[in-house]
Amino acid sequence: MSKIVCVLYDDPVDGYPPAYARDEIPTVERYPDGQTTPSPKAIDFTPGELLGCVSGELGLRNFLESQGNTLVVTSDKEGPDSVLDRELEDAEVVISQPFWPAYMTRERIQRAKNLKLIITAGIGSDHIDLDAAIERGITVAEITYSNSISVAEHVVMMILSLVRNYLPSHQWVLDGGWNIADCVKRSYDLEAMHVGTVAAGRIGSAVLRRLKPFGVHLHYTDKHRLPAEVEEELGVTFHPTTQDMVPVCDVVTINAPLHPETEHLFNDELINTMKRGSYIVNTARGKICDRDAIVRALESGQLAGYAGDVWYPQPAPPDHPWRTMPHHGMTPHISGSSLSAQARYAAGTREILECWFEERPIREEYLIVQGGALAGAGAHSYTAGAR
Ligand code: NDP
Repeated sequence: MSKIVCVLYDDPVDGYPPAYARDEIPTVERYPDGQTTPSPKAIDFTPGELLGCVSGELGLRNFLESQGNTLVVTSDKEGPDSVLDRELEDAEVVISQPFWPAYMTRERIQRAKNLKLIITAGIGSDHIDLDAAIERGITVAEITYSNSISVAEHVVMMILSLVRNYLPSHQWVLDGGWNIADCVKRSYDLEAMHVGTVAAGRIGSAVLRRLKPFGVHLHYTDKHRLPAEVEEELGVTFHPTTQDMVPVCDVVTINAPLHPETEHLFNDELINTMKRGSYIVNTARGKICDRDAIVRALESGQLAGYAGDVWYPQPAPPDHPWRTMPHHGMTPHISGSSLSAQARYAAGTREILECWFEERPIREEYLIVQGGALAGAGAHSYTAGAR
């Protein structure tokens, strides 16, 4: 029988379960590319419940314990005395979400002698040392597409919120004011602006589709071009590199994975080639932006606004400068953890575990590392030996 260690974010401060705002969520059966949503044999939760926190347990406890497995769920993941570090010694499976990542470093992977499977309940496995997983023959899997549309919606919300100066205007209301001039002195229409995405994969192309009706000029850069008919349908202009694209944009949204090519891509040099008063929305990974360069650009006015939900490290310390820099619309890492998304990636985690324990193949599109090599989605998105 196996030990499964599941690292999840803390419960709500006012207790679990919360009072839910709605009684149900719509069911999504297929993603835009036709891929089916997760299809485990059964689930032990009601879609729409809060599953990503410690008491939510991703809805896995009954399923795992009924088969004689041990499930340890904790939010305590940092430092040698953390529950994660203590429980790692004999864990076979580690599960965490990118919102509250269990950083699976080479050192941790080497120490976890029984470790065979690492699951990202969500998308993005850059918190795992994939080379170390490859060397140890550990399988790494994630729930591809489970929250891509959730993130795309968050991106559109943040672009509108920055450009229209929503958050400061809302603050005037909370403060009892009616300060229209103070609100509108930084408020613009998105219409007719040039909006570019760094990467047009699942999230980036969903952002493009959602922005088209706003009457904006769309741009993208990616390692591979979209099919000509898609470019035409969206009316989107391709640029061979990020460097070529950003000078023509008013708004840039970052939707590329974090890897050596994209780490600190948005540094002083690149940001200084953008139009004065541009906006950046980054929901991909915090490290794609140079932390202090973003602060400097907001302070100088080179950037009019920055928003996103990804930081480094996570959770961000209380003194992280992105909490207090001017004109930002940051949230904690939440875009991919709506209750709607949780239902999908909890079901996807269950599907992977069912396959694992029944020795059935895990869906190709969920695989990142298997059999000592990058596999499936991982072979497409990551580069072995790049660290
Ligand atoms: P996809 O794999 O569908 O798309 C990523 C795209 O990025 C691919 O088209 C890829 O090109 C392209 N790309 C890779 N490197 C570069 C580069 N240097 N310049 C331009 N394009 C590049 O991923 P998703 O759209 O599903 O997700 C994107 C990222 O968003 C994830 O890697 C993750 O980090 C983040 N994410 C954040 C979430 C959140 O909650 N905030 C939730 C989910 C994801 P190619 O196909 O040629 O490799």
